[in-house]
Amino acid sequence: MNLAVLGAQWGDEGKGKIVDLLTPSFSIVARSQGGHNAGHTVYAAGNKFVLHLLPSGILHAGISCVIGNGVVVDPVALFEEVETLQGHGIDVEGRLLVSDKAHLILPYHRDLDLLSEARRGERKIGTTSRGIGPAYEDKIGRRGVRVGDLADGSPESPLAQAIRENVAARNRLIGDSTLRWETVLDELRAAWKRLRPMVTDVSVYLDQARRDGRSILFEGAQGALLDIDHGTYPFVTSSNSTIGGVCTGLGVGPRAIDAVLGVAKAYTTRVGGGPLPSELPGDAGDRLRESGQEFGASTGRPRRCGWYDAVAVRYAARINGIDALALTKLDVLDTMPEIRLCTAYRRNGERITEFPADLAQLAACEPEYETVRSWSSPTAGVRRYADLPVEARDYIARLEAVTGVPVAIVSTGSDRDDTIVREGSIAASWGV
Ligand code: GDP
Repeated sequence: MNLAVLGAQWGDEGKGKIVDLLTPSFSIVARSQGGHNAGHTVYAAGNKFVLHLLPSGILHAGISCVIGNGVVVDPVALFEEVETLQGHGIDVEGRLLVSDKAHLILPYHRDLDLLSEARRGERKIGTTSRGIGPAYEDKIGRRGVRVGDLADGSPESPLAQAIRENVAARNRLIGDSTLRWETVLDELRAAWKRLRPMVTDVSVYLDQARRDGRSILFEGAQGALLDIDHGTYPFVTSSNSTIGGVCTGLGVGPRAIDAVLGVAKAYTTRVGGGPLPSELPGDAGDRLRESGQEFGASTGRPRRCGWYDAVAVRYAARINGIDALALTKLDVLDTMPEIRLCTAYRRNGERITEFPADLAQLAACEPEYETVRSWSSPTAGVRRYADLPVEARDYIARLEAVTGVPVAIVSTGSDRDDTIVREGSIAASWGV
């Protein structure tokens, strides 16, 4: 059984914890898109780990982890993460594989990211400025450098030529000539020495693994509403964070994915710009942010917070073919005196039930809310469904009804054990 775990909102849904929980039931964890802009926070063995690039499965001994061709790889960030883990006694050698077709993030991509955000002024996207967007631009612009290209770092190589041209373009754009292509090439030669043992044809590896009866967990980064095609464009990430990205980003066919688990918070957050219909301004929003510790794992930025938006998650369910949801951070609602659920939008008197593509139309949407009863007792740390207060169970039932997807897993705290796997749900068959 191979499972895809994908964000069903605007990212930061708590995928890291859910993947970490499910990992022991699988043999391989594979990432297919994004870069080190993702920030998965996982608590394991008494330590807090924030993983940006490495699949969260790496924290489990014996699990193989794969970085697919759809991921953009900053070698500096990769080595830093590997060293941090090794510092905690977690050995990654021999079980971390990187696609030879993955594109590289190079120093000039970071410079160009900063420049492009500065130029956008008020219309800033709120990227992490780690060069991810410009690296994807180079990929689509057919000037990118792939991991496998590093095998030949000689001055006459296609690699050297690409670096020379790309650095010259960067220097022209920025009006700065301090970055020398020779320096970048030297860095890449050094990076290749360390990367080489990890580099493989990921598609062949995964195909063989499947033939050998090994199971794969596909780990998504970001969320459906940040997808480059289906998200709130242009306030999106630079890759396909929806299901198709798993296939193209790893070289696997759609039948390799047996089930799709969407991860959604019991409320809504987003980082950066763009409309957020169920956003909660003022004290109530601040309360959710504080209670949910909604500050970016990568950047520390405060996240915008609001009520659960069933229009958005229904949309995510449709475009991903989500079989079930993992509902996270239910406990964060424990302190809310009143809880609301956005079931539809209203615009010019019209009821809107499908997520609009046009940002101006989305921005003009008013949420239509249902108010549900707040809980009579806290849910934090509850580990059996029957032990949840009746109001919380009613909330989940209503959320399932308006979203049209069953909730198979409920998370009530950041600890791995603060989790409910519902009996009779699809997740109960995954061995958790
Ligand atoms: P990801 O990128 O989707 O993995 O999400 P993040 O790691 O950025 O954010 C999730 C944060 O919420 C992490 O700090 C988790 O430890 C924490 N978290 C996950 N599930 C729960 C939960 O059910 N309750 C609470 N209170 N925190 C949770």
